[in-house]
Amino acid sequence: MAQGKGDIGLIGLAVMGQNLILNMADHGFTVVAFNRSVEKVHAFLANEAKGKSILGAESIQDLVSKLKSPRRIMLLVKAGAAVDSFIQQLVPHLEKGDIIIDGGNSEYTDSERRCKDLQVKGIRFVGAGVSGGEDGARYGPSLMPGGNKEAWPYIKDIFQSIAAKSDGQPCCDWVGNEGAGHFVKMVHNGIEYGDMQLIGEVYHLMLAIGINQEQMANTFEEWNKGELDSFLIDITKDILKFKDSDALNCYYYISLKDLNKI
Ligand code: NAP
Repeated sequence: MAQGKGDIGLIGLAVMGQNLILNMADHGFTVVAFNRSVEKVHAFLANEAKGKSILGAESIQDLVSKLKSPRRIMLLVKAGAAVDSFIQQLVPHLEKGDIIIDGGNSEYTDSERRCKDLQVKGIRFVGAGVSGGEDGARYGPSLMPGGNKEAWPYIKDIFQSIAAKSDGQPCCDWVGNEGAGHFVKMVHNGIEYGDMQLIGEVYHLMLAIGINQEQMANTFEEWNKGELDSFLIDITKDILKFKDSDALNCYYYISLKDLNKI
């Protein structure tokens, strides 16, 4: 069970927030969890978080009071108004030097604005792109933090510990000032969606010239052994190999189980 003060607070107990908290706890950090609907805090503590270094908070004030200084508070809430709302609620309870991290899919221009506005108040803001979906959040996301660089020494250890590793190196480093983290995440998503468009067009062409599903799966499998080796080519092969007599179920299988992972 968690004791003492928390290393980091996390607001937002939907799938991304819960999984990042569990990942942080697995790496030895004590996390204080809060959510707009407080019943989700109670349910999380009684289930997934049970027995781990995770504390619950009943209010913003309670959350802030349970954190070590400088306080590190990460938001994993719906992008847009919810982020501004929580920043507004947090600021009166924070001290100069405290850190707010937005890990949602925010517009980089919003992150630029938030970084500037909070700097005037002495609060360090970080806009962090988080990639890898719910599995990534749980077992190792790619993290793209940017914003007020003074915050980096205080969050580096947590971020690089929980991030995915490639050849032993964390998939996380400081990417730049103000909205840079969310700008990089936007470019990353643009590349990913371009890839998805290409795969869709290749599928369409294969279908048009009469290649059957099994042959397509074999082709994608071959491509995945060469320079096209990637998560997207791999799951396309899996999707094409999947057989379901119910076309609607098949659609849901593809869209929810696979495409939402990225
Ligand atoms: P989500 O469905 O985007 O958001 C749900 C969370 O936001 C809940 O904690 C909810 O609180 C809170 N919320 C919604 N509207 C609010 C408001 N007006 N005021 C205060 N809180 C509000 O959750 P998610 O899928 O875990 O994603 C979290 C963030 O990570 C999003 O920005 C998302 O775009 C980004 N992201 C998601 C993925 C993914 O694979 N899901 C991957 C990368 C990045 P209540 O429980 O009280 O409703």
